[in-house]
Amino acid sequence: MVSSSAAGSRQQVFVLVGGTGDLAMRMLWPSLAMLDQDGFLADNLRIISVAREDCGTEVCVDRIGNAVTKRVGESLEPGTLARFRKRIVHVALDAAKDDWGAKLKAELGDIEHLDVVFFLSVSPSLFKPICEHIERAGLNKAPNRVIIEKPIGRDLASSKVINDSVAHAFDESRTFRIDHYLGKETVQNLIALRFGNVVFEPLWNSQTIDHVQITIAETVGVGERLGYYDEYGAIRDMLQNHLLQLVCLLAMEPPSALSSDALRDEKVKVLRSLKAITVDNVKDHTARGQYGPGFADGHPVAGYEVEKGSPSNTETFVAIKAEIANWRWAGTPFYLRTGKCLPSRSTEIVIQFKPLPHSIFGTEAKANRLHIRLQPDEDISLTVMNKAPGLTAEGTHLQSLDLSLSLIKAFEGNGEKAPRRRIAYERLILDALQGNNAQFVRRDEVEAAWMWVDGIIDSWTKTSMKPQQYPAGTFGPVSGYRLIERDEGRTWND
Ligand code: NAP
Repeated sequence: MVSSSAAGSRQQVFVLVGGTGDLAMRMLWPSLAMLDQDGFLADNLRIISVAREDCGTEVCVDRIGNAVTKRVGESLEPGTLARFRKRIVHVALDAAKDDWGAKLKAELGDIEHLDVVFFLSVSPSLFKPICEHIERAGLNKAPNRVIIEKPIGRDLASSKVINDSVAHAFDESRTFRIDHYLGKETVQNLIALRFGNVVFEPLWNSQTIDHVQITIAETVGVGERLGYYDEYGAIRDMLQNHLLQLVCLLAMEPPSALSSDALRDEKVKVLRSLKAITVDNVKDHTARGQYGPGFADGHPVAGYEVEKGSPSNTETFVAIKAEIANWRWAGTPFYLRTGKCLPSRSTEIVIQFKPLPHSIFGTEAKANRLHIRLQPDEDISLTVMNKAPGLTAEGTHLQSLDLSLSLIKAFEGNGEKAPRRRIAYERLILDALQGNNAQFVRRDEVEAAWMWVDGIIDSWTKTSMKPQQYPAGTFGPVSGYRLIERDEGRTWND
């Protein structure tokens, strides 16, 4: 947490480096505009867009206006865009040039009275030169802080290089590493659900929970990201960050407070408790796939290698049976999977409870299941057994019913308009502006996650475990099903 007394009455400036890029246009500008509309930005907050392109403020602001309208047009109120546009200035600066810092400083003005948040929405290869420019120009002093995006490296060693270069300019408390999953409403709700209720905590362990499944499924292929993706694959692109962050929130011990260090101390313990996957068990505990020809996202797909134009050892699907070696979770596996060109776009968590120890209802009693959907809809439901209504000659019959905890459905049920579904970056940008880093990833978390993932990749290499092809539009290779079905009575919740 950045000291609020340090930020105090200073004027806030949000410097969006890479302000003309894809992430900025699709996510960051619309998020900032919505924060403005909802009154979360200080009246005098300024926004500086930085990129090499010398398009001028007028043109840049027009593009931003279009991007905001495209993304959140239905929610825009009259006057929002006009007010928002006035906050923005575009400055053309090339990070490869030495005058970057001095020119930005001139644009910023009286730095002693400013509270500057830098968002580096650029390639990670630019983090080091940009942080050096910021430091040389003296723009790195507290309370100023920096937000960086994934990927934080492609293994432990390269993540340390990136983290070291950022740490030279900004201490850890002022380094905000975004994992946008942490800004999603339902992900934040996991903390509320687990630690705001007394009913779940006594059941939240291997005595009662049979296993946990987490799926992040995408229907699209790699598209224009092929160059980047071929270097990373599904395990580095999705599992090392988003999937493991979800594991942390589900598996961590109750923190002593909602403060950033209390939360992150508990998350990192989970990552450090993940059982290493080695050459001895990698074939049983992991599955790698690569999409081949098929039909996905409404289109025929030629297959990954055809799209690339050459053979590739990159996986577009990964499934892992993760085990957490501690008292709470020993014996309860977490099955994780993610992939591209799958049949549906969804992110969901299934907490599968154990069957009744003794059923007085024969085989009709099904084990409870907590189902948390993050995408495409945000919804939480708990399946519970009920008596089927009515009278039958054979006596009582059971039926399984969903107890819905969906906020949206609750509003609809009351005849009220459901709240707007926020972009995950809105929460995170607001937290960064306020100096609250609880929902950002700490360096030790990134490194513990890489350490575990590096071990898996190393075992794939040592055992020559290549990705198995799966037809585009299916839920991954056969080995992905075997991974879970090998354990009796367990199947993916497709
Ligand atoms: P992008 O579309 O390529 O945009 C990059 C931005 O950086 C542009 O504004 C570009 O403008 C600017 N830039 C490039 N070289 C520069 C230089 N030498 N000096 C100053 N500015 C420079 O990239 P992106 O997709 O927005 O991604 C940005 C970051 O977010 C990356 O770290 C990426 O890995 C991460 N990310 C992106 C997404 C996504 O959905 N796009 C998702 C997750 C993470 P000029 O060319 O005019 O300089």
